[in-house]
Amino acid sequence: MGDLALVGGEPVRRRPFAPWPVHGDRERALLSEVLATGHWGYDGPMEAAFCAEFAGTLGAARAVCVDSGTAALEITVRALGIGWGDEVIVPAFTWTAPAWAVVQAGASVVFADVGPDWCLSPASVLAAITPRTRAVVVVHTYRQLAEMDQLLSVARRHGLHVIEDCAHAHGARWGDRAAGTMGVAGCFSFQNGKSMAAGEGGAVVTDDPALADRLYSLKNCGRPARDQLPHGFGGNRRITEFQAAVLRGQLERLEAQCALRDERVAYLGRMLAGAPGLTTLPAKPQVTRYGAFAVPLAYDAAALGGLDVDVLVAALVAEGIPARRPHEVVYRSALWRSGLDAPMWSDRDRAAERLGLAASCPHAEHLSARGGMILPHQLFLGSAADVDDVVTAIRKVGDNVDQLPRVL
Ligand SMILES: *Cc1c(COP(=O)(O)O)cnc(C)c1O
Repeated sequence: MGDLALVGGEPVRRRPFAPWPVHGDRERALLSEVLATGHWGYDGPMEAAFCAEFAGTLGAARAVCVDSGTAALEITVRALGIGWGDEVIVPAFTWTAPAWAVVQAGASVVFADVGPDWCLSPASVLAAITPRTRAVVVVHTYRQLAEMDQLLSVARRHGLHVIEDCAHAHGARWGDRAAGTMGVAGCFSFQNGKSMAAGEGGAVVTDDPALADRLYSLKNCGRPARDQLPHGFGGNRRITEFQAAVLRGQLERLEAQCALRDERVAYLGRMLAGAPGLTTLPAKPQVTRYGAFAVPLAYDAAALGGLDVDVLVAALVAEGIPARRPHEVVYRSALWRSGLDAPMWSDRDRAAERLGLAASCPHAEHLSARGGMILPHQLFLGSAADVDDVVTAIRKVGDNVDQLPRVL
């Protein structure tokens, strides 16, 4: 097939893959409806309809919309009464938002390691529990669902709340339960890249009506959900009617998108069988429907002569495949470590402890440094021929490793 594109050869693909986000007449009609009513702000009919539809689809009693997935996590931690002196266990291999939500509530982050499934390891959670632990934030990472049966059982035995971070898991199901409905609350993001997109936005789903009322209060400046309830203490984390309108359309597309992605990813797994170095992650028998923010591929550098993962990703990008490195380890990332210099601490050592900076999570470090890469979810919303191009590029790189530099 000739030279690798990274060293001047012809790329496997020049055409773009399926676009994201997607919209159509339904979103346009709903947005026009909002424009016409003049009710553009909060607590409008679009938001009420979306909350009912979203909660109904997931099988949750209530959904509360907020302005981001980060805000969803923030108000959930606070609504559970978690604060100073408390500890919350968070995976080390994820985005910074779960850890941020804990710290902004005044509590301390305790990082736990992830397993070969790229999600929180139940054994690592168990080892991280102290008398101060109040909750665990379980993140369903990329396209994976965490080991919910074991994690829920550990949490139950130790009296901990389970908060599910479902920023990557819209529409995913564990047996007959939707991701987000197994813990005390499920936190979703509707940021533009996520698999339900509204530019920005988020939601918390819960079966606990009292918790839902506290969540409402915390996102709406502390105003009580109903007259007879007490005031809360909160800022404005509200969503607009425009976002809710777009989200109603996105929700209607969700199941078909999840089904198509599952079909395409299964096809990728079959086509990659036997190709050295990269594999899809093993399916879990409990998962009956996957969501996805991205599709993770495990990488075994030894199979490609020790090729550095950064070189592999660059080679695939040059071939026209939008591969990416996965998450950084939170406690090692510059984004998170800069928290030490934020003007919010009264004492530096305590800040390092609250930020969990002394953590050591070997598997998270392996995954982040060399153990895998990700492909964006929308790449699996096109044709089977798109997946063929991905496989062709991976095999081309594998067959021509000797053309590549050792490091970039
Ligand atoms: C995107 C994301 C969030 C936060 O969502 P925003 O809407 O961007 O604030 C939280 N957790 C994970 C794992 C995410 O990927």
